[in-house]
Amino acid sequence: MIPVSTPSLGKKELEYITDAVETNWISSKGGYIESFEKKFAEYCGVKYGIATNTGTAALHLALVCLGIGKGDEVIVPNFTMISSALAVQYTGATPVFIDAEEDTWNIDASKIEDKINKNTKAIMPVHIYGHPCDMDKINKLAEKYKLFVIEDAAEAHGAEYNNKRAGSLGDVGCFSFYANKLITTGEGGMIVTNDKKIYDRAKSLRDLAFGDEQRFLHKEVGFNYRMTNMQAAIGVGQMTKIDKFLDIKRKNAKYYSHLLKRLKTINLPVEKKVKNSYWMYGITIKENSKLSRDEIRKKLYDEGIDTRDFFMPMNEQPFFKHLQSDEDFPVSKKLSQTGLYLPSGLSLNKKVILDICNKLKGLYE
Ligand SMILES: *Cc1c(COP(=O)(O)O)cnc(C)c1O
Repeated sequence: MIPVSTPSLGKKELEYITDAVETNWISSKGGYIESFEKKFAEYCGVKYGIATNTGTAALHLALVCLGIGKGDEVIVPNFTMISSALAVQYTGATPVFIDAEEDTWNIDASKIEDKINKNTKAIMPVHIYGHPCDMDKINKLAEKYKLFVIEDAAEAHGAEYNNKRAGSLGDVGCFSFYANKLITTGEGGMIVTNDKKIYDRAKSLRDLAFGDEQRFLHKEVGFNYRMTNMQAAIGVGQMTKIDKFLDIKRKNAKYYSHLLKRLKTINLPVEKKVKNSYWMYGITIKENSKLSRDEIRKKLYDEGIDTRDFFMPMNEQPFFKHLQSDEDFPVSKKLSQTGLYLPSGLSLNKKVILDICNKLKGLYE
């Protein structure tokens, strides 16, 4: 079976995690945490990094640090992974969904302004599958209405917009280091920001908001969202290869697109004036295809090729039922019905990609 994703772990990760274990620094104290935070923040082109136990926690923590809570509204894409909207839900604020763009699959920035009202506090763009959102438009709106911008960059390590890396494009950037992300710590996440106040607050709230003068006197509701030194040790190892990983993703995507560009029944991913990190290589099945997305996935699976559906729209999630109006989200609905991603792991090579593409094309012969 060719899997959709595989992490790439090597000698460095083993060396550093062994060091963490041998020196007994296995909790969230220990040198690898700060080292990982520094290296990753620097990579993103920002001053501060705060490592967390998951990407979902990073998003939640970022929202709390910005003071978002009950009664507030946060604009999120309707087409995204559940964590973006869930993080808003955790704070007690209400996620407000916006449909997707047909080509980039990102939040359609031209539809945001209509949804802004006096309760709106923030916009959370998500760089879907590694393609940065239309940040100029989003930041202009944020400036006009005094909103925060929280990037969910969990799928976009190393992606660039106007030559700036994802994570540095808003007030706060959030990343995930889950095993299928560009670099991994097994489970893990990080907030990155240039704002010292957000940094200080995030550091405190990540660690149960222990008191400054009296340690066990807590003035705020904190969380235990700490990353362990063992995870950070893996992260430091991964950082030595992040450029290489990004290069592999981009080269593989280019090769997929080269091989599939003549197939008239599918749409390929785009790269519109940005650097797409091509975290996952997604395609959508056109209406003229005699095979449905589900049929294609099944047939590829039978040939030993694993794929994944695109996300289900947020407005169709059962626990967001109470938010549902009669509003339509035609683009995200269509994406969820026609989209899939092909194997995109770091261990792919040209021969395997050629084989996958030949099998996909073969389904139409
Ligand atoms: C992976 C991911 C997250 C969060 O991931 P965790 O599994 O919590 O680390 C958040 N948003 C998006 C868009 C993601 O793809």
